[in-house]
Amino acid sequence: MLFRKKHLTSIDAGHYKNTADKQTEVMPVPAMVKLSMSQNIGAPCKPLVKKGDAVKVGTLIGDTDAFLSVPVHSSVSGTVTDIETVRNAMGGMDTLVDITADGLQTEEEFTAPVIESQPDFIKAMRASGLVGLGGASFPSWVKFNPKNLIDIDTLIVNGAECEPYITSDHRTMLENAQDVLDGAEAMMKWLQAENGYIAIENNKQNAIDNFNRLIAEQKLKNLHVFPLQARYPKGAERVLIYEVTGKQCDAGVLPASLGVIVSNITSTAFMGQYLRTGRPLVEKRLTIDGDAVAEPKNVMLPIGTTIHDAIAFCGGYRTEPRKILMGGPMMGRAVFSDEVPIVKANNAILAFTKEKAELPEETACIHCGRCHEACPFDLLPTAYADAYESKDVNALRDLQVMQCMECGSCSYVCPAHRPLAFMNKLGKAMVKEADRNARK
Ligand code: SF4
Ligand code: SF4
Repeated sequence: MLFRKKHLTSIDAGHYKNTADKQTEVMPVPAMVKLSMSQNIGAPCKPLVKKGDAVKVGTLIGDTDAFLSVPVHSSVSGTVTDIETVRNAMGGMDTLVDITADGLQTEEEFTAPVIESQPDFIKAMRASGLVGLGGASFPSWVKFNPKNLIDIDTLIVNGAECEPYITSDHRTMLENAQDVLDGAEAMMKWLQAENGYIAIENNKQNAIDNFNRLIAEQKLKNLHVFPLQARYPKGAERVLIYEVTGKQCDAGVLPASLGVIVSNITSTAFMGQYLRTGRPLVEKRLTIDGDAVAEPKNVMLPIGTTIHDAIAFCGGYRTEPRKILMGGPMMGRAVFSDEVPIVKANNAILAFTKEKAELPEETACIHCGRCHEACPFDLLPTAYADAYESKDVNALRDLQVMQCMECGSCSYVCPAHRPLAFMNKLGKAMVKEADRNARK
């Protein structure tokens, strides 16, 4: 039984929103981009170009017939110089299309999609290459095309941005507010959703004020700002749905089955722009921060730019980094090299020095119960750790380890510095493998 608590727990993980006031800077075109063919959860694309081909900004360079996927477009104009298979940031293998930029940024001729029906909207969403830009990387056109479309009554635009350090969504809310409203209106129209909420943590009061003003001026009666307490992990999809609607969404349950669709705020803004211009997803706003970065910034850059080039635009490394994260410190992933290219769903690159990155030594559990108390879903991190250490798959399953969303709150509060969320991740992998083996 989950969600027993009257109010979902959240933690004060520290905000460190150092770049919140920094206007987005547009990065000059790098010499080369490396465009991953695996930019979404689901099937990777197959390259549609070959070495030597000339491309423009927006040229379709990868696609697939597989259901769960979206196409990839070139983010620069130039020449395809290689198609290589490399190890990606997650440790798996990935195909990259390397494009040497000519610096001209010549664009394809884009035209706004003609949308007269819900299938037109879904088709356009797929063609745009949009995935969940808050980090989820789920193909948006699949999310917006649920089997029970008729039951959808609520759109939640997720502007919580609860992860420490990251401010790219905040900048979207300040610099592209009208795009957000246009995207939300179109989404609500084609979902036939009666209610739309822009959910924003209350540490972004200027964004809340901005939307309240625009919504009042434009008399958008069905769209509302929903302020959230600034606590981690209010922006996690299942937590957010509960906060806004009071509906409980367990792991494995589609929000659509509760009549809700959640869209990241930057995804929503992109859709507003795309419907107006037809320009596909080729660039991304990221927060680049961490104590190893000389000049932390919010940066708009071509997708496929390497981390190294992006950090060079921020003055380079202040000092040798010990850890580089794609994403935030709570749910982001460490990468093994700064030659890894930025993908659509990246919203931050954080580089930390040895002093910041070093993990404190783990000590024995003192049974204080703080991990359980911190969990938004009332889960039992210590029981998962015990079951994982004794390789007890049945116990992991019985204790519902699959409900864990790996938010890291339990690890964060643990005075013994136990890597509880990581053990949960490994425990989940163990259950999945056992299930796979059972199906063979
Ligand atoms: S990582 Fe999992 S167990 Fe730990 S607090 Fe988050 S949801 Fe709960
Ligand atoms: S927070 Fe850490 S020390 Fe406290 S019960 Fe959980 S694992 Fe043990």
